[in-house]
Amino acid sequence: MYEVSHAVARITLSFDNGPEPSVTPHVLECLAKHEIAATFFVLGRKVSLPEGRALSEAAVAAGHRVGNHTWNHRTPLGLLDSASAMAEFEDTANALSWLSQTPPLFRPFGGAGSFGHHLLHPSVVEQLVARQYTCVLWNCVPGDFRDPDGWMERALHDVKTREWNMLVLHDLPNGAMRHLDRFLHTLRDDGHEFAQEYPDECIPIKDGRILMPLEPLLPAAD
Ligand SMILES: [Zn+2]
Repeated sequence: MYEVSHAVARITLSFDNGPEPSVTPHVLECLAKHEIAATFFVLGRKVSLPEGRALSEAAVAAGHRVGNHTWNHRTPLGLLDSASAMAEFEDTANALSWLSQTPPLFRPFGGAGSFGHHLLHPSVVEQLVARQYTCVLWNCVPGDFRDPDGWMERALHDVKTREWNMLVLHDLPNGAMRHLDRFLHTLRDDGHEFAQEYPDECIPIKDGRILMPLEPLLPAAD
C-alpha cells in the first residue's frame, strides 16, 4: 500500500471587499481558531462606517493586517481619470488614518482578479512610491464571490499547483465563508503551511520601491 502524499504549499490568506458586520466576525473567529494571521483589503466606503472601522480595528488587534482596496471598487483605477483614481485611493487612505502599520498596504481591484492595463493609475502609483506603500496583487482567485459553494474544491486543487499562494477570498455576505472553517481544516490536514508575508511575484511595489515593470498594469500611453 502506498501512502497518498499531497504536494505541500505555502498559503497567504487575504479577505477583500469588507468589512461586513454579518461576515467579518465569523472570518476573524475562524482565523483565531486556526491561529492564522491574514490581511484584510478593505473598501473605504465600508471601513469609514463606525461598525466597519470597529471590525478592522479588531482585525488589527488580533494580529491581522489591513490594507486599502479603494473606496467604491466599481471601476478599475486605469479606467478612471486622474482625479477619480486619486479619490479612490486617498479617501480610503484617510478612512484608515487610525491605522499605524508599516508598510501601509494597497491592493487595486482587477474585476474577478484579472490583470491588465486597467489595474493601476500613474497618479496612484506616484503616491504609493512617495508614501512607501507595498502593493499586494494575487496569484490564486478561486472565485468565492461568484460560486459560494464550489470555490472550496477549486481552491483545494489550485493551491497544490504552486509553491506559494497569495489567495484572495472575500468577507462578503454571499454564504461562501460558511465553508471557511472546513477549508482551513482541510488545508492543515493536507500539510500546507500558512504565512502572513507575500510572495515576491505578487509584490510589484515594496515599501515604495518598484520591483517589476508596471507598464502591463498601467493604461497604455497614446
Ligand atoms: Zn476586490
